Amino acid sequence: MQGKPRIAIIGAGLGGTAAAALMQRAGLQVRLYEQAPAFSRLGAGIHVGPNVMKIMRRIGIEDALNAMGCHPDYWYSREGVSGEVIAQIPLGDYALRHYGASYLTVHRGDFHALLTEAVAPGTLHFDKKLERVSDQGDVVHLHFTDGTMEAADIVIGADGVNSRIRATLLGAEPPKYTGYVAHRAVFPIARVKGFTHDRCTKWWTDDRHMMVYFDTGKLDEIYYVTGVPEPDWDLSKSWVPSSIEEMRAAFDGWHAGVQSLIEGTVEVTKWPLLERDPLPLWSRGRLVLLGDACHPMKPHMAQGAAMAIEDAAMLTRCLVEVGADDYANAFALYEANRAERAGKVQLVSHNNTWLRSNENPDWCFGYDAFHVPLVPAGRPALSAAA
Ligand code: FAD
Repeated sequence: MQGKPRIAIIGAGLGGTAAAALMQRAGLQVRLYEQAPAFSRLGAGIHVGPNVMKIMRRIGIEDALNAMGCHPDYWYSREGVSGEVIAQIPLGDYALRHYGASYLTVHRGDFHALLTEAVAPGTLHFDKKLERVSDQGDVVHLHFTDGTMEAADIVIGADGVNSRIRATLLGAEPPKYTGYVAHRAVFPIARVKGFTHDRCTKWWTDDRHMMVYFDTGKLDEIYYVTGVPEPDWDLSKSWVPSSIEEMRAAFDGWHAGVQSLIEGTVEVTKWPLLERDPLPLWSRGRLVLLGDACHPMKPHMAQGAAMAIEDAAMLTRCLVEVGADDYANAFALYEANRAERAGKVQLVSHNNTWLRSNENPDWCFGYDAFHVPLVPAGRPALSAAA
């Protein structure tokens, strides 16, 4: 390679955008390609834990995110019918003191917009849908559906659950439908009558749940996301509209707090929950994966995007530590330091047990991607506990 290696990131979701911002700050040369023509403020919230906030500190948007988001004092778990509090995990000031960064909940679109602004102008190219990629050995050719072609030295597949880069490495294979859907709705808290909601609560019964939280610092907007069994899903659809009637049926007999949200709903959508088994490899040649392209999971730890962002941080760290010219060793180091943790989060998310009882979440929230001791490549990664 002559000059700095040209790094192409496919997909400007939270993982790809975080990777671009981090790599630019590390002095690497990056281009980011996104199939969408633009981004909009889609109706969904997201948890951002201390493990992510430390990465946002490095990008320089920690304060803005802190100002934007809601800071829950606790993650409450409640029994769905009786409303009894069954677990109470301290966040708020405790998280700040104990982990050294905040735990917050925020609108996903607001978070994404802030992260996108942290990428240098001219880096992000919209309307660029990757059709195929060919690793020529000394260079990679990226072919887009608009007929254009770009060359790169390193290609990062941050292109989500249906990743083209994953298919190039391992063959085309659809993700697994888990038999669960998630209903998602965001609306003004003023529409919710008859119940005062805490900042962050997960309501549970044995086969379904509803996670509820505010997604703004002003506490004027509330979000819920469910997990509800549904035997089949047509994988050609990434989501479908749902309805208040469907929500009433799914949560019939549940506590008044849950009913207050269903009755306040303006619009609700339904999404399939998809996952894959851990992949046998994360990279080959000049291609490497991160985020949902690599380890899509049920969202039940609220850590899917967090894992994508941690991947972005670790990949940046490994490219800097090893040198981007030696991408093969950098990728091996990256995988050695990420696979076990991502696999563990996938498994706990799959089992949907996270914070249902008063467990200690330190192994997850306390992780610091830029400071955790590195295990050498080629040896099984040690536990990723902080
Ligand atoms: P994505 O966000 O899927 O981004 C991939 C990007 O690549 C997209 O912009 C896409 O348009 C683009 N792309 C795809 N193919 C191409 C192509 N061929 N060419 C160019 N561009 C392409 N995670 C959390 O951390 N906290 C939460 O609270 C949380 N809640 C969730 C709730 C639900 C209901 C669900 C379903 C998920 C939730 N997640 C949460 C998980 C999180 O949404 C994902 O893990 C995360 O978005 C993955 O980020 P990513 O950047 O890897 O992929």
